[in-house]
Amino acid sequence: MVKVCAGVHVSISGSIALAVDRAVDAGCDTFQIFTRNPRGWAFSEITEETRASFIIKVRSSGLSPIVAHMPYLPNLASPSQEMYQKSLMALEAEVDRCDRLGIPYLVTHLGSHMSSGEENGRRRIVGALDVVLAKGNRCMILLENTAGQKNSLGTRFEDICAIIEKTSLPEKVGVCLDTCHAFAAGYDVRLNFRSVLDELDQAIGVEKLKVIHMNDSVGDLGSHLDRHEHIGLGKIGESGFINILSDSRVWGLPLIMETPVDQRRDDRGNIKKLKDLAALV
Ligand SMILES: [Zn+2]
Ligand SMILES: [Zn+2]
Repeated sequence: MVKVCAGVHVSISGSIALAVDRAVDAGCDTFQIFTRNPRGWAFSEITEETRASFIIKVRSSGLSPIVAHMPYLPNLASPSQEMYQKSLMALEAEVDRCDRLGIPYLVTHLGSHMSSGEENGRRRIVGALDVVLAKGNRCMILLENTAGQKNSLGTRFEDICAIIEKTSLPEKVGVCLDTCHAFAAGYDVRLNFRSVLDELDQAIGVEKLKVIHMNDSVGDLGSHLDRHEHIGLGKIGESGFINILSDSRVWGLPLIMETPVDQRRDDRGNIKKLKDLAALV
């Protein structure tokens, strides 16, 4: 019987502070948000009132740690100068917003090199991280592994390591492991989570792993399909998650689900399912 730190991605609809209430209602120990609309470039500043109300609510809820996720449009690996500059500005703004809200982790995808080559894409990401890290932010930037779609970076742990190693402040950069993405990329977290984590440890160092996105996968092993499924209802399945939860290296980590909400299950249901499975370990 293992006690895990479980949570979901919650909506900030209405106000960032309302996200805390939603997380509490869903039974979270931890939660993730977008600090603004993830589908656009525009955003409004966080007012002092919103900031104070979010921080007070987080403190009184006891939920920890809080995680933010970068919006969808930025591509830090883009060969287009215009896209790259916009993406860099979005990253700078997001880091700043996390610091204002007292959020310790910002998860980002590594983007697509758009057929300009992996090495070039990695170089651009390192450049963007260095610009942001030079500003002395408090929050740590977590690089998330991807499912291996065409031209995407960060599918293999070695690629993520190659980026972290080259940044000017590697201690401010960590990793977010998404179980669905890893599985779709060909890492068999279902049968062999321990050796997948060993591989991550050898490539990057497991102490760099700060957040796990616990998602089941619609696609099969190596399918490169990024489609999340409810815990236990996808190709990883209940026994796969028991296998994952059996590794003591995940016990202290925030396990955040980015699972669907539909007639089969809601957020509360996925948290309960994950905790029920942890109880079987
Ligand atoms: Zn994810
Ligand atoms: Zn995904």
